[in-house]
Amino acid sequence: MKEISKRKLSVCPHQKTCGGCDYPNIPYKEQLSAKEDYVRKCLLGLCKVDPIIGMENPTHYRNKVTAEFAHKKDGAIISGRYRERSHQVIPVENCLIEDEIADSIILEIRDLLKSFKIKVYSEVSGYGLLRHVLIRRGFVSGEVMVVLVLTSPILPSKNNFVKALRKVHPEISTVIINVNDKPTSMVLGERNITLYGKGYIQDQLCGLTFRISPSSFYQVNPVQTEILYQKALELASLTGKERVLDAYCGIGTIGMTAAAGANEVIGIELNKAAIKDAVINARQNKIKNITFYQGDAGKFMQDLARESEKIDLVFMDPPRNGSDDAFLMSLVKLKPERVIYISCNPETLARDLKYLAKHGYHVVKAVPVDMFAYTAHLETIVSLQRGNL
Ligand code: SAH
Repeated sequence: MKEISKRKLSVCPHQKTCGGCDYPNIPYKEQLSAKEDYVRKCLLGLCKVDPIIGMENPTHYRNKVTAEFAHKKDGAIISGRYRERSHQVIPVENCLIEDEIADSIILEIRDLLKSFKIKVYSEVSGYGLLRHVLIRRGFVSGEVMVVLVLTSPILPSKNNFVKALRKVHPEISTVIINVNDKPTSMVLGERNITLYGKGYIQDQLCGLTFRISPSSFYQVNPVQTEILYQKALELASLTGKERVLDAYCGIGTIGMTAAAGANEVIGIELNKAAIKDAVINARQNKIKNITFYQGDAGKFMQDLARESEKIDLVFMDPPRNGSDDAFLMSLVKLKPERVIYISCNPETLARDLKYLAKHGYHVVKAVPVDMFAYTAHLETIVSLQRGNL
């Protein structure tokens, strides 16, 4: 991926200092072919790879934006992100890939800090109140969530702060304090206190409405997510009779999108908040043939295999480190006819596919989908069929 020529595009004003994007200077078409080549290289000898599905408009696609804050030497506050592998804040006011409304809310918060005497947290001294700001915006619903990550549950003049912020940005539908007082590089702590609104936002995806809490996983590029899910469903070619498992289901988006075409869907996910959202999402969308379980997907699969449950099709969408032995070994015991593997890491994908190919599965084909323009990341959907074709 590193071999791409560095041609100047000069679209990002922060490209020299930020380091957040892998390819700020590379024309989008070149980025796409580099990603496609990367997938081909990783999956060499395993299956055929379709051309990558790129984005029509590859800028400002991120619906989730996190900002850090720091004081300059003259006392002025800057907002931006940490320089790679450091805790030095690089000022970023207008990011090429982030939602523009989210970016402008962050600037407004930064400007309000001084008049509200809110001290910015310093990783070095351990003092200060505001650690991060997280913004999520529903691109279809227009709802906006602002999460103020604080070292304490108390924000002085909280009601006036919310009022001042909403005066400039009335589109903000909920404001939440998240308490993170631990020495950790994780953005969010465990406790949320709603200052304004419902404490979550809703957004529409594939014609369904989803509730998204501060810590639930929700794909950051909703436009491409619809394309990703539609492709996954197309490869699944459900007939209406299947018992489907949605493994690593997050707030249940894939399973709920598939539910209308299946007899029954089961979702399994580790994150408690995400499962809570998933159950509410199913109810809200009046989907009756889906059940969610909270727990480790590998352990859950072992239980299903032990009880000789019948599963016809498995959607699996694990995190970057891929699946684990417990999951894969139980998967081959359960013998679903088809597996649709959605992966954000072609290397762990190749590792897991090799295992499945050795244990009774034919890897039919892979479809790379670009969800993260200007970065080296992408998603790949792979369909597998039991037996040798
Ligand atoms: N399918 C969802 C989420 C995919 S991200 C979507 O498309 O939105 C991967 C998910 O796997 C995250 O929600 C994460 O919380 C979950 N996860 C991570 N490790 C897990 C494990 N061991 N068992 C079950 N879920 C896990």
